[in-house]
Amino acid sequence: MASPPAILRANRPDPTHPAPDPCADQSSWALLTRHARCAGSGLDPDQWFPVSAEEGKARQEAAEAIAICHSCLVRARCLALSLRYWDIGQHGVWGGLVATERARLRRLIAADHNGCGGALTQATVVESAR
Ligand code: SF4
Repeated sequence: MASPPAILRANRPDPTHPAPDPCADQSSWALLTRHARCAGSGLDPDQWFPVSAEEGKARQEAAEAIAICHSCLVRARCLALSLRYWDIGQHGVWGGLVATERARLRRLIAADHNGCGGALTQATVVESAR
């Protein structure tokens, strides 16, 4: 089967940047603003931004921040938003994961969309990360 013309391929949604749902995203951002455990945690802001590129070391550097995320009510939404708004979501700790872990999730999502047809949704990835 011939591949679609370039113009159609170009207009396909980028699976690593799912089409934003303005209402759902607005609701998620509002919930984050209201319930984010990191807000007012008193933790040194540097704890949220590990400097190591190596995943294990980054997790060690950010251990206290990650511990806060693990008890955060909006963790799944936080992680989903970080994947969708990658320009800001690629930095620091979001949803209890460091940057390299979230980058791997994005690659998994993209590979799944390009391969077996999207069975691995962002929601299931987020749930599996819990
Ligand atoms: S999951 Fe972590 S980074 Fe996200 S809002 Fe909660 S505490 Fe903050």
